[in-house]
Amino acid sequence: MENKVKFFNTLTRKVETIIPNEDGKIGMYTCGPTVYHFAHIGNLRSYIMEDVLEKTLRFAGYDVKRVMNITDVGHLSSDADTGEDKMLKGAKRENKTVMEIAKFYTDAFFSDCNKLNIKRPDVVEPATNCIGEFIHMVETLLEKGYAYIAGENVYFDTSKLKDYYVFSSQSEKELMVGVRDDVEEDENKKNKSDFVLWFTKSKFDNQELKWDSPWGVGYPGWHIECSGISIKHLGEYMDIHCGGVDNIFPHHTNEIAQSEAYLGHKWCNYWFHVHHLNDKSGKMSKSKGEFLTVSLLEEKGYNPLVYRMFCLQSHYRKPLEFSYEVMDNVAAAYNKLVKRISGLKDEGVVDEAAFKIWRDKFEDAIVNDMNTSMGITVIYDMLKADINDKTKLALIESFDYVLSLDLLKAAAAVADGTDNSGEGANVDAELEAYILAMIEERKAAKKEKNFARADEIRNELLEKGIALEDTREGVKWKLV
Ligand code: AMP
Ligand code: ZN
Repeated sequence: MENKVKFFNTLTRKVETIIPNEDGKIGMYTCGPTVYHFAHIGNLRSYIMEDVLEKTLRFAGYDVKRVMNITDVGHLSSDADTGEDKMLKGAKRENKTVMEIAKFYTDAFFSDCNKLNIKRPDVVEPATNCIGEFIHMVETLLEKGYAYIAGENVYFDTSKLKDYYVFSSQSEKELMVGVRDDVEEDENKKNKSDFVLWFTKSKFDNQELKWDSPWGVGYPGWHIECSGISIKHLGEYMDIHCGGVDNIFPHHTNEIAQSEAYLGHKWCNYWFHVHHLNDKSGKMSKSKGEFLTVSLLEEKGYNPLVYRMFCLQSHYRKPLEFSYEVMDNVAAAYNKLVKRISGLKDEGVVDEAAFKIWRDKFEDAIVNDMNTSMGITVIYDMLKADINDKTKLALIESFDYVLSLDLLKAAAAVADGTDNSGEGANVDAELEAYILAMIEERKAAKKEKNFARADEIRNELLEKGIALEDTREGVKWKLV
């Protein structure tokens, strides 16, 4: 197999060809969600682009084993080891136990992933499953002199490393910008950049989940989870580690520090980071502005896959600003594309030579630093090309392995009339225009949270024998 996937490696700050440690086999690790609340669509931008990366690697012939953790303990409200455990915060908010919260939001996360066609990683491991592994790592770090105990917590001593700030050319000050929320000083730390490996003395005595350890009853720090879980499932040498750019510091920097100190050698070769989704006022977060979730998009009448296409049309290394105007444009483009594909005839035979030419064009786009918008452009160019419909359909199927926009499924629904959103039903143009205008008005009413008007529109249409249905492919109508 020829190694041909390239992306920007944050460690070397260069676009590099991915050469796996083991021939053809990629060990890939993704920092999973902290399951104290729903994921917002910013979090999901990262997971969509990581999904595209995994599928690009597979498309190009690599074998991938992908591992993801579920953070169900230890992620404090500030990334700098201060504040309350986010899980406890969620439990208090909803008057439930931490484990109930973890289960509910883990399921909600995978349900969102499912709606966005994000493949489930081969291994998904909650941090609370691996306490033994974390304790073993912390013990080894203490034995090797990389850790110390202070104020009843165990800390990693960053002064023991030659180079702690491995994501180089970024100054300490610049990196600190990535630290979320407030940063409080911890007087137990020998150096400002030291971080907690194991807490036994929390400011919050009511921490719900605690385990016995050689240092007393307590719980692991957030960073040790990802090192412990990735080494458990991917071994001592990892190929690709992913996350959002806010994970670069301190999370990934600390992961590298403790993993390499523990292992005694270089750990992970390639670091893939997805830039943020912003709203008009800056980085999207769960605590400010509109809490944008997949369910909210659905309530407003959007097909979640339109959000996936929204993400694919922009480069993963650029900040992306969310707006409903752009979503509306993408929705229109998606529907137009699906309609175009629905007109292709599934007849004849695939022209293998043409198939190869166009498959190569698509592959060129995505293997070169994941140029997904170029990948989508290849679809439009291919549809215009002088090749038979059967070959076009085969190419769409092949590209959609990576893009995962359900293009053939949506086109089939249009063609057989089950999705008649203005397509299949036998109504005159005037009635069709009226229905579409009403659907648009209802969408706008929902966006403004005017649910009374939205219901009124639904009932008005129903009285005329037109039923609306909100589905994952968007709003559909049929004659009843
Ligand atoms: P968390 O659940 O907070 O641990 O975050 C889950 C993932 O979402 C991490 O990889 C974060 O880096 C990423 N992330 C957080 N906020 C954003 C955002 N606004 N845009 C894109 N990715 C984000
Ligand atoms: Zn992580």
